[in-house]
Amino acid sequence: MVLFLIVILPAILYAIVALLAVLIHEAAHVYVATLLGIRVKRIGISWRGPFIVREQGTPVACACTALAGPISNLVLSILFWSVAPTFAQFNLVLGVFNLIPMGGTDGSHALLAFRRTQVMTAVQIGAARK
Ligand SMILES: [Zn+2]
Repeated sequence: MVLFLIVILPAILYAIVALLAVLIHEAAHVYVATLLGIRVKRIGISWRGPFIVREQGTPVACACTALAGPISNLVLSILFWSVAPTFAQFNLVLGVFNLIPMGGTDGSHALLAFRRTQVMTAVQIGAARK
């Protein structure tokens, strides 16, 4: 009974908190993508966690969709900081980690989308000068 109360119950609660935060993160991606007219083709789970397969959309829409997940976590972290600290801390870690622009994170997807915006702007400026 003591083992259950000290080890197993907190682990189960932490897993539920983590699952809830990840589901909200992915739901934010899907919601913003749908809001911006990007068709979501598939939602799945891999060894790296849940993922969505969607149309690329415009660079701005792509960046907004990529940033929606981490921003939702950061907002939840702020809202729940004093009420549910474990939930808030997990959301903070998830949000900040996903904003780091390294292989495959939302931050890297947003950065690529911003670069596409800059390339498109440079092409448009070049075309306007001709
Ligand atoms: Zn994400």
